[in-house]
Amino acid sequence: MATCEMCGYNREVVDAIVEGATMSVCLECSKFGHVIPINQPVVDKKIERADESIKPQLDSVDVIVDNYNDRIKKAREKKGLKQEDLAKAIAERVSVIHQLESKKLKPSFKLSKKLSVFLNIDLITSSEQKNPAKPKDVDFKDNSLTIGDMLKSDEEE
Ligand SMILES: [Zn+2]
Repeated sequence: MATCEMCGYNREVVDAIVEGATMSVCLECSKFGHVIPINQPVVDKKIERADESIKPQLDSVDVIVDNYNDRIKKAREKKGLKQEDLAKAIAERVSVIHQLESKKLKPSFKLSKKLSVFLNIDLITSSEQKNPAKPKDVDFKDNSLTIGDMLKSDEEE
């Protein structure tokens, strides 16, 4: 029981939006004009596909971390698993695990992801590519630039 914010009676109230404001009103008042029950399902047809569409187009590439063998081995041992156990768990051959841990085999991205998920480790990292793309625009009005600087930026192209 609470006080209806519209009529002031002490009754059973429901939350409703009255002309833009959230109010607690009694069932009687909720029947009037501008009262919209809050519990009405809000249908939002926009389906967000964050992981696919908002992939940043940066100059970076995904690479397998260099010490993948250590990470795999440590994570596996932490879980108390044998190489055989890990192999079974991710549906790979034991020889694959063995080669991974002795750094004889670099995992594919697919395999890395499986291992990452199962062992809860990061095996894929984003490495920024050296991008020599745009040489600095040489501003001839800029007195701080010496002839040497200009020649240098030409060379870099
Ligand atoms: Zn009321």
